[in-house]
Amino acid sequence: MTIMPKLPEKTIERLSQYRRALLICLGKNKQYIFSHELAGMLHLTPVQVRRDIMLIGYSGTLRQGYEIREMIALIGKIIDSEEGLKVAVIGLGNLGRAMISYFNGKRTKLSIVAAFDINQEKVNRVYAGVPCYHIDMLSKIIRSENIPIAIMTVPGDEAAKVTESLVLAGIKGILNYTPTPVNVPANTYLQEYDMITSLEKIAYFVKQGNREEHI
Ligand code: NAD
Repeated sequence: MTIMPKLPEKTIERLSQYRRALLICLGKNKQYIFSHELAGMLHLTPVQVRRDIMLIGYSGTLRQGYEIREMIALIGKIIDSEEGLKVAVIGLGNLGRAMISYFNGKRTKLSIVAAFDINQEKVNRVYAGVPCYHIDMLSKIIRSENIPIAIMTVPGDEAAKVTESLVLAGIKGILNYTPTPVNVPANTYLQEYDMITSLEKIAYFVKQGNREEHI
């Protein structure tokens, strides 16, 4: 068996985007797709798409392009774990609830199976099929349910404390939605998403665009 080298983060992000786009095409009964079509759907260059696809060791044909089903299966083999992975949401507020509603049912290989909160009114209830436990139960449930990934949607000033508990409980990957950057040990994968940074980036480019129009 050949072992594929570790892929760059950006490639993994794009593979996830390719799969979503390919699933849409499959839903429209399309069988093959050219790199320029896939690139067009995702606002990428065909060269970028071809480079990524080559990296995962796949090649299409000149006449028909890539076989959509084959490519979806291959991307699945790279990204997904065979047995699927469980995810917990920490902080069942506006964003935590939105994440559960949005996410569950979308990916068969990743499923949100538990939520945690400190608010007694939320604890011991089930939200959209997901049980909510008190945060004091974190370590016990994470271990007994074998949950490796956590989405953190608590207030920013709770982020450091919650991260520490997650790491101690054995969580291996954290998606931090709070505006507070956190530290994790080297064996824990951290992804931070700050909506304000994204919006300010857009604001900057919108401002640049407006300037050019006025020159
Ligand atoms: P929210 O106040 O509605 O929800 C926060 C939840 O976390 C509450 O249910 C609260 O009881 C719980 N909580 C507080 N301390 C906790 C702890 N130690 N352990 C477990 N649970 C705890 O807030 P929200 O709007 O859902 O936002 C959550 C986080 O996401 C914030 O950091 C916010 O800045 C960030 N964020 C929110 C949005 C949004 O659109 N709502 C967008 C981007 C980022």
